[in-house]
Amino acid sequence: MTRARAAFVDRDGVLNDLVYNVEEGRVLSPFSVREMRVFPYVPETVRRLRDDLGFKVIVISNQPGVAKRQFTLAELGKMNAKLRREVVRGGASLDGEYYCLHHPNALIKKYRLDCDCRKPKPGLLLRAAKEHGIDMASSYFMGDSLLDIKAGKRAGCKTVFVGHLTSLMAKVMESEDAVPDYVIASLKEAPWLLSELGANPRPKTVRGRTAPAGRSGRRTVRTQGRASAPRVAVKGRRTASSQPVWTICSGSLSSPSAVRTSGG
Ligand SMILES: [Mg+2]
Ligand SMILES: [Zn+2]
Repeated sequence: MTRARAAFVDRDGVLNDLVYNVEEGRVLSPFSVREMRVFPYVPETVRRLRDDLGFKVIVISNQPGVAKRQFTLAELGKMNAKLRREVVRGGASLDGEYYCLHHPNALIKKYRLDCDCRKPKPGLLLRAAKEHGIDMASSYFMGDSLLDIKAGKRAGCKTVFVGHLTSLMAKVMESEDAVPDYVIASLKEAPWLLSELGANPRPKTVRGRTAPAGRSGRRTVRTQGRASAPRVAVKGRRTASSQPVWTICSGSLSSPSAVRTSGG
């Protein structure tokens, strides 16, 4: 079976804007659904990555805010639902969403864990890859922090830094051995980048791999009718509403206690 390719995306700063927190005097992730502002180009970008280029689009995000009592799990659910709603309204959908809620210094005990899924560790990526049948070498991780680039590299993806790379950041990346493969200013440029890199539309890729050279046309026709024929050339795409779930990490990749929460 042909394995799928993924465009893994970080959430905060990539799909939605960061927020200037007056009390803390710095830029942070949104703490409420009211602060959750999805970038206007995201739905169309996701649609192009999926429909035009054949990538699965999967969110991989650290969300330690619940553990730090910055917002509740219910509020996180509302923020994620808003993200999904806006993407679906734009005619696209997300293939998966994976969130790590842990933090080593969590205020809430059950989230106080040095888990293997919190980026820069690759656990969430590896789990998503396993569950979605992803080939890492032909996949990309796109994020706006050093943690994203590190996690992507450890998982074996190509990495894309999203944002404006300062010289300081570039130096840190070099010293931490986390230099991204590519840099784009915003996710809006991702479809362009991936198509420039030769990520062909899905049907072409599938046929290119499965049709051996030198076979006659007749042979091709016959194989297409057989059960073992490459049916991967996905025609009936699942609808947006068939995947309304977000997945919370369980602390370890092998743990069976993974929580799957229905969205909305
Ligand atoms: Mg981010
Ligand atoms: Zn975790």
